[in-house]
Amino acid sequence: FDLERLGVHDSVASVFPPAELTDFLADLSVPVDVIGDDEIPDCDAVITIEHRDAFLECDWIHSIQAGVDRFPFDEFEEHDVILTNSTGIHDRTVGETVAGYLLSFSRRLHGYAANQQDRRWVRPEWDEAFTLPGTTACVVGTGTLGRGVAETLGSLGVQVTGVRRSEESVPGFDEIHPNEDLHTAIADAEFVIVTVPLTDETHHLFDADAFETMREDAYFVNVARGSVVNQPALIDALESGAIRGAALDVFEEEPLPEESPLWEMDEVIVTPHSAALTRDYFRDVGELVETNVGRLEADEAFTNRVV
Ligand code: NAD
Repeated sequence: FDLERLGVHDSVASVFPPAELTDFLADLSVPVDVIGDDEIPDCDAVITIEHRDAFLECDWIHSIQAGVDRFPFDEFEEHDVILTNSTGIHDRTVGETVAGYLLSFSRRLHGYAANQQDRRWVRPEWDEAFTLPGTTACVVGTGTLGRGVAETLGSLGVQVTGVRRSEESVPGFDEIHPNEDLHTAIADAEFVIVTVPLTDETHHLFDADAFETMREDAYFVNVARGSVVNQPALIDALESGAIRGAALDVFEEEPLPEESPLWEMDEVIVTPHSAALTRDYFRDVGELVETNVGRLEADEAFTNRVV
């Protein structure tokens, strides 16, 4: 297709100011403008975080997220719309966020932060705090997020096991298990970290059985998508002591409703789908888009193409 106008949909404002991205892309050979819903029909291509039905009349949609479970793949295919995503840019951001969760649990920082709100000087029990070297983490999904998590945790001395579709080794992981052995892989880990995309196959992958399999002193971390986890089963597991705690960035319903019991649990860290945020986000997305505009001009296949 011929690219004549590229729009930056104003929905990206939930992650960065849209004008930062139009400025970054100002040197492209086509005009790039911030657009609202009304202007979608005037663009061949749109960079966005949300889906709009009007996108089906465009040639190319780029998602600023890696997860594209919100876009209707079948309809894109029917209407010959190309969909690309932003996989590949979230290794360090999400890796550092997960390291932060683990350090918080081991060094008890979330408890102190909560107590500080009430000016309470409370020291933990003698055996509550620990250090990370020698602890074990099982990372389910060995793509960009999984590798970033493995690398960051590895540098803190954590032993990292991965779960993926094949048994082939992956840099940064001390050991790999195939999907069929998921429960064996999570049974011994002190931290279980989910980094798979949400698909029919991964929907509610973590259910009551999985939490029952985990160690009672284990922490569960979800930086993937809410529906990879059966959330009521997770809440039951936390309430019954089947697992010790959790750090959750994503939820079945976002924002997490005020009445959710997760907000008030001492050993649960709730973050607002913010694990990948960074002030450099627009730059990372901009570089991906630049690459693909170059490929389009050279008549080469797009990178990060999903549909
Ligand atoms: P990626 O494409 O680089 O990696 C995904 C990996 O999961 C791939 O290696 C793929 O083979 C594997 N996979 C897919 N289905 C699987 C299955 N059934 N079993 C085992 N492995 C499977 O994507 P990524 O950048 O690592 O992102 C992964 C997901 O994390 C995204 O789809 C998105 O939903 C989520 N995400 C969340 C945030 C956040 O802010 N919390 C940020 C980025 C991505």
